[in-house]
Amino acid sequence: MTNLLDFDLEGLTAFCGGLGEKPFRARQLFRWIHQRGAADFDQMTDLAKSLREKLRARAHVAALPVLSQNISADGTIKWLFDVGDGNAVETVYIPEDDRGTLCVSSQAGCAVGCRFCSTGHQGFSRNLGTAEIVAQLWFAEHFLRRRAGSDERVISNVVMMGMGEPLQNYAALVPALRTMLDDHAYGLSRRRVTVSTSGVVPMMDRLSQDCPVALAVSLHAPSDPLRDNLVPLNRKYPIAELLDACNRYLAHAPRDFITFEYCMLDGVNDTAGHARELIDRVRHHAGRGVPCKLNLIPFNPFPASGLLRSKPERVAAFARALVDAGIVTTVRKTRGDDIDAACGQLAGDVRDRTRAAERMARRRTIPLHPVRQTATEEA
Ligand code: SAH
Ligand code: SF4
Repeated sequence: MTNLLDFDLEGLTAFCGGLGEKPFRARQLFRWIHQRGAADFDQMTDLAKSLREKLRARAHVAALPVLSQNISADGTIKWLFDVGDGNAVETVYIPEDDRGTLCVSSQAGCAVGCRFCSTGHQGFSRNLGTAEIVAQLWFAEHFLRRRAGSDERVISNVVMMGMGEPLQNYAALVPALRTMLDDHAYGLSRRRVTVSTSGVVPMMDRLSQDCPVALAVSLHAPSDPLRDNLVPLNRKYPIAELLDACNRYLAHAPRDFITFEYCMLDGVNDTAGHARELIDRVRHHAGRGVPCKLNLIPFNPFPASGLLRSKPERVAAFARALVDAGIVTTVRKTRGDDIDAACGQLAGDVRDRTRAAERMARRRTIPLHPVRQTATEEA
């Protein structure tokens, strides 16, 4: 059986072509599935009975089983989806006044292994398929519409910021993004679909050609030694290469800036000196800097990390230094932390095949206690 959630419109057109059907039939089918949330071919009354029978014999619209649903006091909803073999991934819906954002997972676990990330500590099991990525949006959108008792679109933004490194699952990611953007499916604007990456440089270049959407880059440190330690992928693609790739991406991006994410870790990357170094890099890299916005994320603690959240005063001082240097800076509001749905708290269930926890334990080279600040940094 073919899962039709695996296809973008081009793929579905090819599939329907194989059944002897014209492209407009594929568009109709695509709209039934994604715009109307239909999974039962009998519902699709404007498709010929003969086509519905052919579909029933070969294909299905297979959603992911929901293992749990948690609703936060602030309205954030977290779902845990079963992806088989003991693996489960999480998806988070974040309602705001002017938008509804869905945070989508791309892998069961993550192989990058960032120190401060709960997913990273879980290790890596496998990539999700296109259908498993799209199924998160398909389920959430139609669940939320039914709950609201309306046909109006609820999810206006998608961020690939759930479990996993999306650019290490490129082949499955791109058709999923195309489905999100397609006017016959979710019709989201490129500016409202964001891929967040820890910096897989070659894949940033490919994405700029294949499907340029908004890009967020998880920077977290202004210098290579520190970033090597926090985001191990930095040893392969150091900051200078990453910033070059950001500038190349911008030539094709739907927005004229890159969002840098910076997780604020007490005493690790949050001093006045770090702020100065960061400003220097993003303003002067390669002589011209990188047009960017800074998104500061107060660290969301989890027991195994051994790290602490920066004090609010320090986050504020860091933000002020950036703003004074002319860099647009926001501090991300923590949402859904009462249900462990905040950034970096998504752990799902991962049958680790990489012994990540052991590696993590061996690599604890950053002091676990806040570093004492020098007098000049405090000033
Ligand atoms: N793998 C991708 C996307 C998923 S993580 C990436 O790293 O960009 C989404 C964001 O949450 C990233 O910026 C990540 O660094 C941040 N994050 C991870 N763990 C966190 C934590 N414990 N507290 C706050 N932010 C965290
Ligand atoms: Fe993977 Fe992103 Fe977590 Fe790093 S922060 S371990 S890249 S999910």
